[in-house]
Amino acid sequence: MSNQASYIGRFAPSPTGPLHAGSLVAAMASYLDAKANHGRWLLRMEDVDEARTAAGAAESILADLDVLGMHWDGEVVFQSRRTALYEAAFDRLGRLAYPCGCTRREIVDSRICVAADGAAVYPGTCRTGLPVGKPARAYRLRVPDPGHVDELIIFDDRWLGRVQQHLAIEVGDFVLKRADGFWAYQLAVVVDDADQGVTHVVRGADLLDSTARQIYLQRQLKLATPYYLHVPVITNADGEKLSKQNGAQAIDIKQPLHALSKAAWFLGLDIGQVDSVAAFWPLATTAWANLETSRRA
Ligand code: GLU
Repeated sequence: MSNQASYIGRFAPSPTGPLHAGSLVAAMASYLDAKANHGRWLLRMEDVDEARTAAGAAESILADLDVLGMHWDGEVVFQSRRTALYEAAFDRLGRLAYPCGCTRREIVDSRICVAADGAAVYPGTCRTGLPVGKPARAYRLRVPDPGHVDELIIFDDRWLGRVQQHLAIEVGDFVLKRADGFWAYQLAVVVDDADQGVTHVVRGADLLDSTARQIYLQRQLKLATPYYLHVPVITNADGEKLSKQNGAQAIDIKQPLHALSKAAWFLGLDIGQVDSVAAFWPLATTAWANLETSRRA
């Protein structure tokens, strides 16, 4: 990798519940990639959506990572304490951001287009101004019209290869500030990754669909684009991503080595028998580096 010396990675869990098998896979992949590249590994609590934040979840995630032998660099950052940064970035977007008065129902009912994830593509109702009598609910970012240079966002994912998304067709103008007043994930993540100097984002493929939006936002805010790597996500029997919302079980922290071995197996890492958490990490780091080499071959 070109900029190994200055590698900065991160794990950015949303503290909506304890660490589960799915979030451990994302944590492990980002940790191993940082270690294999002699980089720093930062930890950021994505609690910008305070309504979804569960009491004690951040502390429990930190305690579990500690038992699992995953030690982060520097101070843990909490998004809920950084809203001034999001506000400043939003202000810099100027007229690219605009107020939207549509309710979720109205957007779903418009059904002009449906995005890959099943959500309705925003039909642009409030693009040219709020309809008379409608108050602003959310703020959206204008995406490029078809024909504009940035209409197609293309990037090379280190795991998945070339990925592209046509923002206007597949997403539409997207939310920066939500109707409930919270800053949207897309804005917060872009501001924080840049502010923390993150050079490499390693996370679950459930976020692949967000990456083009984030790259577009980085360009509008004149921020660097990190390298991206999206690892497969664990799904339940119905093919849904394992998440706290669909009842994913917390990992059994009394058996840390078992949890680590299962996550490593899922990532395709060949580690063999290990008898301690301390012995696990050097072997896993080598296995990750080998996997990376074979992927590039
Ligand atoms: N907070 C997000 C999650 O827990 C991860 C965001 C990211 O890695 O960009 O799913």
